[in-house]
Amino acid sequence: MNIHELGVHDLASRIRSKELSASETISAIFDRIEDAEPTIRAFLHLNADYAHMRAKAIDQLPANELANLPLAGVPVAVKDNMATVSMPTTAGSKILSGYMSPYNATVVDRLEAAGAVIVGKTNLDEFAMGSSTEHSAYHITCNPWDIGRVPGGSSGGSAAAVAAQMVPAALGSDTGGSIRQPASYCGVTGLKPTYGRVSRYGLIAFASSLDQIGPLARNVEDARLLYEVIAGHDPLDATSLPDALDSSLKPFDDWRGIRIGIPKEYDGDGIDPLVQERYHDVLALLKAQGAQLVDLSLPHTHYAISAYYLIAPAEASSNLARFDGVRYGLRRPSDDLLSMYETTRAEGFGSEVIRRILLGTYALSAGYYDAYYLKAQKVRTLIRRDFERAFDQADVILTPTTPDTAFKFGEKSRDPLQMYLSDVFTVTANLAGIPGVSTPAGLIGDVPAGMQWLGPALKETRLLQIAQAFEQLWPSVPWPSVGDE
Ligand code: GLN
Repeated sequence: MNIHELGVHDLASRIRSKELSASETISAIFDRIEDAEPTIRAFLHLNADYAHMRAKAIDQLPANELANLPLAGVPVAVKDNMATVSMPTTAGSKILSGYMSPYNATVVDRLEAAGAVIVGKTNLDEFAMGSSTEHSAYHITCNPWDIGRVPGGSSGGSAAAVAAQMVPAALGSDTGGSIRQPASYCGVTGLKPTYGRVSRYGLIAFASSLDQIGPLARNVEDARLLYEVIAGHDPLDATSLPDALDSSLKPFDDWRGIRIGIPKEYDGDGIDPLVQERYHDVLALLKAQGAQLVDLSLPHTHYAISAYYLIAPAEASSNLARFDGVRYGLRRPSDDLLSMYETTRAEGFGSEVIRRILLGTYALSAGYYDAYYLKAQKVRTLIRRDFERAFDQADVILTPTTPDTAFKFGEKSRDPLQMYLSDVFTVTANLAGIPGVSTPAGLIGDVPAGMQWLGPALKETRLLQIAQAFEQLWPSVPWPSVGDE
């Protein structure tokens, strides 16, 4: 067994027992990155010196301290919209080219305190706006299952790095699906926690009322290990929830009595027939296990994309006002202040970001606010209520994660509406603030399919437990052989 094939749980326990050193692990990981990264291009920054230094420090810890580190020596990649002092933080944008944060995001501090070693920062759609990572200002990232296809987005670098076995786990952020959709396209597990469960301190804000950080990993157990390290109250984030995590639930394999909600709105027009067929295969299997399938309706789903693409750009237009050439990164000197702002922003932002700023500014402007932004907020409340009612009838809701599988480069980037539609099944969880996890459900052709499990707010543990039972039930497939030739 090669070290780079080991998951989070296995690595941490071997490093804790000194069967393996953190330094050997990091060397093996950088060898793997050297093999696979030229093809996949998942990273924007790598810092081998820093990783080796951190690994050495972990190897020197006394046994009793090492024994308490849940992620002892585990290499982790972090999406490049989370602040790190060890590497630049660019959010995939030219406007933050070379920007060095003076502090770490809370999630980064928590990973390091748990013994994880941050190896690099992963590629993303600029400011996390997109579904394919094609909107990165730096380069594209390839899907390890088929390098002619996108890895999904916006956390495409994180998902591809995990699927190509360059790291056992990574962090992503999810505003409308950016953890779950790339997890689905790359055949890995991705969790978007409840809004407020994981601190957003140090996450470069896209849409603050929707953004949430979460893990991507090769299996549910590994995603849970990262989640438990990063979740929990943080006084530095005013929206961080005080509620304690319940980590006491035991895994189960008896589906009898589990009520799985099947929303009719997620099973109709616009789904790739092969994805739909896979969804029905999954449902049949769960039913055969004794799970109770509950047909239900989330009637406002139809309005979710429209509401999301008003609320998210509105918040983005306000959040991105700070990138003005004065406070951060790029600055293009000009004759007067206004033209300095204009030239800096015109050069620093890509076209998708500018489109969102325009959309958001329009939706918030006097005269249009009531018709667009306020209406979208009302729809958001209706969507949240749909879920509250649904969770009276079901313990968990199961849907395909995406209506399609990984698409080819260029297929949707010329048509923003097509790109926005890849989020139809994921944006509702962000609007409602509830947790969602995507787990692989085999391949369709050469590329993975993913199923999305949605649960009530703060019930991540239960959700992960159910997702894990499914993972054990559904036959897994070998990892793609990138860089092994
Ligand atoms: N694809 C969605 C968008 O472009 C979601 C992005 C995200 O979750 N960060 O807004």
